[in-house]
Amino acid sequence: MMKNLISHNRNKIISYNIIIIEVFMKEKLYRFMMGRYGNDTLNYVLLGTYIVLSFFKGFFFKIIGIILFGIALYRCFSRDIWKRRSENEKFLQSTKPIRQQIKAMTNNFKDKQRKYFVCPSCHQVVRVPRHRGKIEITCPSCRKHFTRKS
Ligand SMILES: [Zn+2]
Repeated sequence: MMKNLISHNRNKIISYNIIIIEVFMKEKLYRFMMGRYGNDTLNYVLLGTYIVLSFFKGFFFKIIGIILFGIALYRCFSRDIWKRRSENEKFLQSTKPIRQQIKAMTNNFKDKQRKYFVCPSCHQVVRVPRHRGKIEITCPSCRKHFTRKS
C-alpha cells in the first residue's frame, strides 16, 4: 500500500516535470521565433516539393530536395520579414493563373448546376449557369468579354 503510494507520487512528480519541461521548451521556441518570419505558402510548397522529391531515387533529386529544404528553413527563421513577405507575394502572383485554373476545375467537378471559367485577362474565377450553349461572359472584376461553351 505504502509502496504503491510512493510510486504513484513518483509518477506524478515525473509527469509534472515533463509538463514543466514542455512549457519551458515552448517558451524557448516562442522566444526563438520572436521577430522571425515563420511559414507561408511558398514555404509549404518548397517543403511539399522536398517531400515529393525524397521519394525519387538518384543524387540529383536528393541535392535539389536538400536545397529546397534549406531555402524553406532559411526563410522560416529569417528576420527580414518584409523581404520574405514580398517573395511570397511574388510567388502567389506568378502562380495565380494556375491556382485559379485548379479552383475552377474543382468547382466544376463539385457544382453540377453551374460552370466555372477563369477570366483570360485578370484570372478571376467566373461562375455561369450550365447548359446554355455558347454564351458571352462579362468578367465581374475587370469587365472583359469572352465567349465560352456553358
Ligand atoms: Zn477579369
